[in-house]
Amino acid sequence: MADYAFLTDSTIAEYVRAHPQLNTLIDADHLVAVDEIGDGNLNLVFLLRDAVGRGMCLKQALPYVRMTGEGWPMTPDRARHEVESIQTYYALGPELLPKIYSFDAERHIIAMEDLSDHEVWRAALNQGEQHEGAAEAMGRFVGGVAFGTSTFALDREALSEAIARTQNPQLCVITEDLVFTEPLVDAGRNSVLPANEPDAAQFAADAAMIRAMGQAKWMFMTHAEALIHGDLHTGSVMVRRSADDAPCDSVKAFDSEFAFYGPVGFDLGALFANYVIAAARAYALHEDERAKWCLQLVAQTWDSFEAEFRRRWPERRDPRVFGDAFLEDTMMRWRGEAWLFAAAKMSRRIIGAAKTTDIETLPPNLREGAARGVLQVSRALALEWQGNSLPEHLIGIATNLLEQTRTS
Ligand code: ADP
Ligand code: MG
Repeated sequence: MADYAFLTDSTIAEYVRAHPQLNTLIDADHLVAVDEIGDGNLNLVFLLRDAVGRGMCLKQALPYVRMTGEGWPMTPDRARHEVESIQTYYALGPELLPKIYSFDAERHIIAMEDLSDHEVWRAALNQGEQHEGAAEAMGRFVGGVAFGTSTFALDREALSEAIARTQNPQLCVITEDLVFTEPLVDAGRNSVLPANEPDAAQFAADAAMIRAMGQAKWMFMTHAEALIHGDLHTGSVMVRRSADDAPCDSVKAFDSEFAFYGPVGFDLGALFANYVIAAARAYALHEDERAKWCLQLVAQTWDSFEAEFRRRWPERRDPRVFGDAFLEDTMMRWRGEAWLFAAAKMSRRIIGAAKTTDIETLPPNLREGAARGVLQVSRALALEWQGNSLPEHLIGIATNLLEQTRTS
């Protein structure tokens, strides 16, 4: 049993009252709404609202995986990883993160800005909404983190301390198993439609895929480049705009409990993979223009990532050896590695335990082709990640395969 108390609807007001820094932000004596809204797989998430309309979000880590219950223990210290990474990112660019109000290390509770005037980006994509500016914002976010938490910005002492503090083995193992291993080697958690069983079998037998996933997993486990988010899919991004045809006026990354020092390409690949998945849904629904828009997000994220990193480059700490040739080599390497990680991320969402609503809410006759298309894109990226990794090439590959494989 846990040695700390879980928040409930009836104890949450008392919790706020007992924390003066929270009680000044919301009136715990006049709460008009307390909702546990966690749609996630891991934690409790409460939204509070008081009589004058002020909101607050409280997120508590349980000592196990919420989705499966006590049978899958999981360190609640993941809340510390989440809050410390958000605070690190916030210092680099506050507009892209929720504001943190407090952290309770004993009960693993994060109090943060209420973002309920935003939408989760995946949900917006599933409804056919096109939020302009979100993909650029996330590219800028990853570029800022790639520079600002790395050896280019920190001295050796600070970098080593940061790497030590952010070791996150339990969460990393989840990724290593679910993202890199299990799409190829079923540990009893995989599932596909009967019609996609041959696709999953071909995928698991693909020698190029196995070779690529070995590279991806090894890079993930050994390349401590920057404090990556570690779970940067479209369900970890919130978007807001003032009207349907207005660009985003706010974009926020959240839910960074998987953060650790890892390869920069992993966060880029997560975004790319989820854009392809969103496009597969749009193609399945014969919304071809919107599908092309979803795929263009790959270029938007890459371009703004690159621009942000290059913008910061003149400030790097050691220009003697980290010269401009190194910059070009590194950009090329990250661009290819983003393909590799995208291949891993998109396949696990089709075959593995944690799927996406983009695909799962399609009727089975359409889901079959969408799932097949995503798996084929994954295999193509795994084959070509060391070749031409320009975003336009990825977009071309995905356009062809997703159009060819759709079913109806
Ligand atoms: P988990 O780690 O369990 O996956 P998330 O951090 O993804 O939890 O949160 C689950 C859901 O709660 C999100 O999808 C979003 O709808 C909502 N949520 C999370 N943080 C906030 C916030 N600060 N403001 C409003 N809603 C939030
Ligand atoms: Mg989470």
